[in-house]
Amino acid sequence: MPDVLGLSIPDLQRAVREVAPEPYRAAQIQRWLWERRAASFPEMTDLPRAMREALAERFTIGLPRVASRSASVDGAEKFLLELADGVRVEAVFLVDSKRHPAAETSDGAPGTRVTVCLSSQAGCALDCAFCVTGRLGSGRNLTAGEIVGQYLVLAREKRFGPREANVVFMGMGEPLLNVACVGTALDLLAREVSPRRTTLSTAGIVPGLEALARRAHRPNLAVSLSAADDATRSRLMPVNRTHPLADLFAALKRWPLEKGRRVTFEWVLIAGVNDAPETARRLAALVRQLPAEVNVIPLNESARWLPDLKRPSPAAVDAFARTLSRCGVDVTVRWSKGLEADAACGQLRGREAPGRPKPPEIRSSGT
Ligand code: SF4
Repeated sequence: MPDVLGLSIPDLQRAVREVAPEPYRAAQIQRWLWERRAASFPEMTDLPRAMREALAERFTIGLPRVASRSASVDGAEKFLLELADGVRVEAVFLVDSKRHPAAETSDGAPGTRVTVCLSSQAGCALDCAFCVTGRLGSGRNLTAGEIVGQYLVLAREKRFGPREANVVFMGMGEPLLNVACVGTALDLLAREVSPRRTTLSTAGIVPGLEALARRAHRPNLAVSLSAADDATRSRLMPVNRTHPLADLFAALKRWPLEKGRRVTFEWVLIAGVNDAPETARRLAALVRQLPAEVNVIPLNESARWLPDLKRPSPAAVDAFARTLSRCGVDVTVRWSKGLEADAACGQLRGREAPGRPKPPEIRSSGT
């Protein structure tokens, strides 16, 4: 049965017009889905009973099923979500320790900012050496409905309302390899999450960046960099062989960055691979081409999936960040939340996945 979750109001109008011919019905159904977090047509009690029954016979509300969930002491909670065809993806709920002045939680508590991390594919073909999802291999693209469905399920489970959450596309998959569905999902999410509070993390797919640049709802960009020269980056992130640094930065310079916004560069810091002071100086020279900031993310170690990659010591992390800062770069060190629960990219699926991991491609210092 067709899923109504990923449809815009005009598409929903067209889809349901046989059973709900009045043009305002589509907006009414969307209000139930989004503002009231309805999970079924019978809940939509201001629709006539016969219409609700006819909708339930012909359409589905494709909210994924929560297959498992686990929380960690820092407030992160990971959800393993099962889609209609049995494919499983992960979504993560995070609570920011900082208070957000504009936010109020649905149960009246003042202003805790929450972030929802969504997947865009059920796996990833890009095979970044530091990523557990990459070890698991490729998976299909998610539909727009399956993407917003993750958000809506977490909104129901965690009881947050419209305009209370940030959204990040940092779960499983490369969003810009699924740019049409991600773009539609961004349009739908924009009814309650402003693009300014939405961030899309990409490994740097140049045609995808160009397609996203033409859309009305453009998120903040976070570009996974992790190396400042092509040779190292191609070993760490094979996508660099198709979209090398010069092409990526040329595309980023064309990106219609609004006033006051910056591009975030993510740098997964790996001991002996990309944590040298000279690498920090090379990185600074690269990112100073744009209004930019750098997030340094000390590697999430995984003995099973990434046995040869190690997180640098806290002193080495600090030294790398200080070098960047001295070069005039705004830098933040992000110790991943939810480590206890393996909530970082791909690690939830990694824990349940059977079989043997592929070995990572990079094994020694490339800098
Ligand atoms: S880091 Fe992102 S792009 Fe790279 S393999 Fe993992 S999910 Fe894919």
